[in-house]
Amino acid sequence: MNYYSLNKKAPKVSFQDAVIKGLAPDKGLYFPEEITPLPKSFFENINKYTYPEIAFEVIKQFIGGEIPEKDLKSIISDTLNFEFPLIEIEKDIYTLELFHGPTMAFKDVGARFMARCLSYFNKNNDNEITVLVATSGDTGGAVASGFLGVKGVNVVILYPSKKVSNVQEKQLTTLGKNIKALEVDGTFDDCHKMVKTAFLDSDITDKIQLTSANSINVARWLPQMFYFVFAYQQLKNKSKKIVFSIPSGNFGNICAGMMAQKLGLPIYKFIAATNANAVVPIYLETENYHPVDSIQTISNAMDVGDPSNFIRIQEIYDNNFRKLKKQLHSYSFTDYKTREAMLSLYKDSNYIADPHGAVGYLGLKKYKEKQSGVQGIFLETAHPVKFLEVVEPVIKKTIPYPQQIKEIINKKKEATFIKTYDELKMFLLK
Ligand SMILES: *Cc1c(COP(=O)(O)O)cnc(C)c1O
Repeated sequence: MNYYSLNKKAPKVSFQDAVIKGLAPDKGLYFPEEITPLPKSFFENINKYTYPEIAFEVIKQFIGGEIPEKDLKSIISDTLNFEFPLIEIEKDIYTLELFHGPTMAFKDVGARFMARCLSYFNKNNDNEITVLVATSGDTGGAVASGFLGVKGVNVVILYPSKKVSNVQEKQLTTLGKNIKALEVDGTFDDCHKMVKTAFLDSDITDKIQLTSANSINVARWLPQMFYFVFAYQQLKNKSKKIVFSIPSGNFGNICAGMMAQKLGLPIYKFIAATNANAVVPIYLETENYHPVDSIQTISNAMDVGDPSNFIRIQEIYDNNFRKLKKQLHSYSFTDYKTREAMLSLYKDSNYIADPHGAVGYLGLKKYKEKQSGVQGIFLETAHPVKFLEVVEPVIKKTIPYPQQIKEIINKKKEATFIKTYDELKMFLLK
């Protein structure tokens, strides 16, 4: 399968090159040259398949034979070593829990899949790769865990000192092996700037093969299609129209759902639920796309002022505003509303949602006010324990640590403290 750059000024590449490069040389995101719908019978008979079987059918055309069937199947079953339960919250409202993986956020799926693809492409150990990422919280943990122990891959993660939650910091700094954490005296933007500078610094790139592991990488983006189909499989009533509400930041997750729809998954509408960072809701209202600086909120994994994957969404809908507006609704919610939703979910449905999931729930409720006769699924993208500092004061209850967190919370943090870009450079080159 070939991938082209959405900036259209770079050559087409194979899946392997798209994964290793991350971004095209013209700074465009890669997009698959073809998308072929799966046979109708696949969805009609969906109950007959296991999760790994579904995932294989969904992803195989995008790999295009570059990973042999046997190896691809083992990458998939390694990736999907946890559950994806669909839970009924109230009539016709479900949540798809994506937080049962090792770092308790949906990013585990993409990170684990990508790590195993890179490892496959490096099976002869002939080109060691360094994955360099900046994180504001969730990405780093998922990448660290996903790449832990993967042969031929070193991981360097930059995070802003004192600006990630305690649980998140432990997830970044306690793994050891091929995972190195750099604690940066600064903000997430400072970390991000350092990473970008490193990618353009030939002193570094002449010596080491750098790659990024953020959601623009096709190997992180595409496996997110899997669980939209898993949700469909679990729905009892498949004849009622299905709406997905996705709490969105960089819009990679929702964009994967749209790809699943392209494959034939019967999704009626998408709802992109956002916090105060409302570039997309404003765009759908005004047709004016205007990226801005991000605003800090309690659902901080979605604090994005310029969503990197939106350009892929435009491509999926042929850069046609009307087509897009027909399929996608988008609403923005305040932190106040988000806390209110967490409280009502807890009181009325005995469900503890994290702030991101709560935004997804709000999006679905708002859509259903106007549209009857549909059933909706909102994605619960992280476990509430990852945002304890926000959730506990709202519901006034202590959330016990799940097993994954117990295992790391008392481990010793190991991180190198840095202040400047030169310190990062020295660290990479030593
Ligand atoms: C990353 C993240 C999101 C946003 O996902 P996008 O694909 O960037 O839209 C939502 N919730 C949580 C918990 C996240 O970590």
